[in-house]
Amino acid sequence: MSQRADMFIVGAGPAGLCAALRLQQLGYRVVLIERSAAWPRPQIGEALTPGVKNIVDFLDANQALENVPHLTRLPTRLSWRSRTAETVAHADAAVVDRSAFDAALLRLAIARGIEVHQPASLDSVGGRAGDWQLAFSTPHATHQVQARMILDAQGRRNSQPRQMLCAPRLSAMWAEIAESDIPSELAHVTQVEALEQGWLWGTRLPDRRYRIMLLSDPLVSRQLGQGRPESWLRHHCGASSLFAGAARQPFCSPLQMCAATPYVAVDSWQDGRLKLGDAAFALDPISSSGVEKAMRFSLQAAIAIHTVLQAGNEAQRTLAHDFYQQRLIETCARHHFWTAAYYRQAWCSEQPFWQERSTPGMAAAPGNREALLMSEALQQEIDQLASYREPVIQAGLDMQTSQMIRFHHLVQIVSLPCVTGDKVELRPAMRHPHLERPLAFWENEAILPRLEILSQKAALSSVLDLLGQSMNLQKARRLLSWLRQRGLVEIVSD
Ligand SMILES: Cc1cc2nc3c(=O)[nH]c(=O)nc-3n(C[C@H](O)[C@H](O)[C@H](O)COP(=O)(O)OP(=O)(O)OC[C@H]3O[C@@H](n4cnc5c(N)ncnc54)[C@H](O)[C@@H]3O)c2cc1C
Repeated sequence: MSQRADMFIVGAGPAGLCAALRLQQLGYRVVLIERSAAWPRPQIGEALTPGVKNIVDFLDANQALENVPHLTRLPTRLSWRSRTAETVAHADAAVVDRSAFDAALLRLAIARGIEVHQPASLDSVGGRAGDWQLAFSTPHATHQVQARMILDAQGRRNSQPRQMLCAPRLSAMWAEIAESDIPSELAHVTQVEALEQGWLWGTRLPDRRYRIMLLSDPLVSRQLGQGRPESWLRHHCGASSLFAGAARQPFCSPLQMCAATPYVAVDSWQDGRLKLGDAAFALDPISSSGVEKAMRFSLQAAIAIHTVLQAGNEAQRTLAHDFYQQRLIETCARHHFWTAAYYRQAWCSEQPFWQERSTPGMAAAPGNREALLMSEALQQEIDQLASYREPVIQAGLDMQTSQMIRFHHLVQIVSLPCVTGDKVELRPAMRHPHLERPLAFWENEAILPRLEILSQKAALSSVLDLLGQSMNLQKARRLLSWLRQRGLVEIVSD
């Protein structure tokens, strides 16, 4: 007899677990399988960006994670723009024991009533969207589940046919130094250094070892490293200024390697099956934000799923789908844009490794319609980002209530799928070159249609009267002056 579930999730990394916790919170019955027999399983991706904390707060998971070994307030020594190192404080970032982090989230999922099978392997998928028939095996049994949706959170998979690479190939190789062998200058810092053929990253781990990772072009490392990855890693440490002290130290773990090329799946949501986290997209590790982005995307996907399952009509389902797709494109395009700018800043940016990665742009994948559409959508988002002009904030632009104001002529009103409560809704939003992304809400207040009046000229006093009907007047004044300071609202003559 098969059991029934709303969601069947494959993979218990941050993406799968975050989706499971959120969907369970929204009232869905979730079954999750994880294939790793060893648990906590080894994991990389241990430097967590500050945004992870907000997500953990949102999931009410602080208590569950409080015993996860972690290090905070490690300063970062950076040799990027020049060969002279600068030290940057990263007060809110953390280096965690990722295996323990994932394991604690998994325990929380079980405690909250999510049905977890681990180790388990998926045997077959039959049925159709809305009524999937799944079979999976655990060491002593086979199981059948009937589910409404399947969420693929299996993590990075390289060279999938329906995957589009977003940048030239990149590979990672890393090893660890035992505590007793860590050179003193490395002991209490995270380090990042740009080198001609790649970059080195290193950090102290919560278990006291020091990890050094080299990110480089796999073809170059194969050719020049002559098939000896450890010598290649040591060579780069020796050639660096920050890691030189580690070049001759013994490694306490075998050298490991993996692909690290950014990609996006071109078929992320099809027929009641959708992808999350690294199954949907992988980012260049330079930002150390893969875990945060995977978790955030899962929260957004959960809202899209909820909207679809509650939808009364096709238009709402399409809207939810568009929201998911836009978040995917936005996440990948923004990261790609940011990464290219960061690569451009490197002191060795004239070298081929850096040149190839410094220009934001998506090469169209020939012959594959979905890839072509995806590359066009990414390019469009990149162009949008490139058109952003940071406003020069002008303070002291007080307006008189008698003055006539209106939107700046470059303000466009667009419709945007947004999260309102637990659902996706279409909201009006403002677009302007001084806005990084279309703006629908300001300090949790919907700005449109409230400010639609500013599509034509209107006296400030009447705009305030209108806003005052649904908003605190002080806040309304602040909103108008915020818009004015950014050049989104202008004063016009009578
Ligand atoms: C070199 C490198 C360095 C990185 N460094 C950082 C960093 O410092 N900070 C950061 O935030 N991010 C970093 N990342 C990215 C980060 O590791 C990932 O973005 C993140 O782990 C994605 O989470 P996920 O849940 O999608 O996938 P994963 O964490 O990979 O989890 C996927 C899970 O699915 C399971 N699974 C796979 N297939 C199946 C199957 N068929 N059945 C059942 N279970 C299955 C796996 O066992 C695994 O538990 C780095 C990535 C790379 C490549």
